[in-house]
Amino acid sequence: MPAKGVLVAVTADVVIAGGGVIGTAIAWRAAAAGLDVVLADPAQGDGASLVAAGMLAPVSEALFGEGALLRVNLLALARFPSFAAELEQVTGHRVGLRREGTLAVAYDAGDYAALTRLTAFRRSAGLEAEELDSRACRKLESFLTPDVHGGVLFPGDWSVDNRRYAAALREAAASAGVRVVRDRVTAVLTADGADGVGSAGVADGAGARVRGVALAEGGEIGADRVVVAAGSWSGAVHGLPAGLRSAVRPVKGQLLRLRHPAGLPPVLTHTIRATVRGADVYLVPRADGEVIVGATQEERGPDLTVTAGAVHDLLHDAMSVLPVTSELILAETCSGLRPGTPDNGPIVGEAGPGGLLLATGHYRNGILMSAATADAAVACLTGRAPAPEWEPFGPGRFLTGEGVP
Ligand SMILES: Cc1cc2nc3c(=O)[nH]c(=O)nc-3n(C[C@H](O)[C@H](O)[C@H](O)COP(=O)(O)OP(=O)(O)OC[C@H]3O[C@@H](n4cnc5c(N)ncnc54)[C@H](O)[C@@H]3O)c2cc1C
Repeated sequence: MPAKGVLVAVTADVVIAGGGVIGTAIAWRAAAAGLDVVLADPAQGDGASLVAAGMLAPVSEALFGEGALLRVNLLALARFPSFAAELEQVTGHRVGLRREGTLAVAYDAGDYAALTRLTAFRRSAGLEAEELDSRACRKLESFLTPDVHGGVLFPGDWSVDNRRYAAALREAAASAGVRVVRDRVTAVLTADGADGVGSAGVADGAGARVRGVALAEGGEIGADRVVVAAGSWSGAVHGLPAGLRSAVRPVKGQLLRLRHPAGLPPVLTHTIRATVRGADVYLVPRADGEVIVGATQEERGPDLTVTAGAVHDLLHDAMSVLPVTSELILAETCSGLRPGTPDNGPIVGEAGPGGLLLATGHYRNGILMSAATADAAVACLTGRAPAPEWEPFGPGRFLTGEGVP
């Protein structure tokens, strides 16, 4: 029941705060599972999901000490093709899934030594890797500079055109009946006890349940299940347990979108991940001739400016390994905020009052993890257990001392 004097304009089974790829994928699958879904977002599609490079790269993203993350990323990759195929079938739009793999290249001997150590680790985790000398790298990608010291092909990585993918998700969600409210969720509301009169904020008492969300422009959406999927802004939603509000931070990434001028054939087939004297840069080709060059990793809070230095460094490193980059058209510079967490893992699962679900903190891999996250979230929303790979990534790991599971 609403608090006195507050207008509940909309009600639903589930309200989702945030319409990036995570919130929209959940909305689509929840509606397809028969739930009545409202998605609230003041600017759907303005988040990291449209800035991202679209790599589906569990292998070349696998780093020392991130074994559990690798397992959930591999689950996500395995799920992606059928999810994308259904999306394409429902919407009639291609999302640009590519399966050529990642060619990691090292510019000098020091870079190669670092790549060799990472390759040994990835092989020990059962991942496929093929070491290549400079010539073999150029056989795969003829525009690479002959100066490249050597490389490794990781065939287990793919990519998707994340902008096409996000647009298709929005369309699929709409056609499954998801209603969109263009407003910001300010708080999760709870009904705490016998009289059902709610309050904003987490009700720590036994039996507290969510009853909807409050909106910035006034009014509420009534629902007994709430999903917070607001990317790097998730912590700004009142009513989450304190440990979760501080667990998500924005990690800035700047990225360039280049285009082929008329007459120039495609300059790349594989995604290239290069290390150039210790600095990392990647180039991701798209079927329509776009090449993505990224990305910086910066701890600058919510800053979204594009800096001359970042554009210079990205272009410099890209041109060092692929000189023909200089012939491409600089079509767009952009900047986005990855939702980072203290252990680099996502936060997916129930927490706080009954009916509250978190689906955030996807950091460097939110495009990759979107389909599998939707499965996990819909499992929670429909009373089933998510796949075991999600077990290490529940919200409980950030709630020590708060008395919440
Ligand atoms: C430069 C860069 C490159 C990347 N490359 C890759 C890559 O190659 N592969 C990969 O898998 N991932 C990549 N990522 C990471 C990926 O983009 C993110 O993990 C993913 O987009 C997160 O999706 P999201 O839906 O959680 O957040 P977002 O896409 O940021 O969406 C959050 C949404 O929530 C809305 N919102 C905010 N506050 C509220 C509120 N209070 N109420 C309602 N709505 C709200 C926002 O308007 C926004 O639409 C990259 C990120 C960056 C920045």
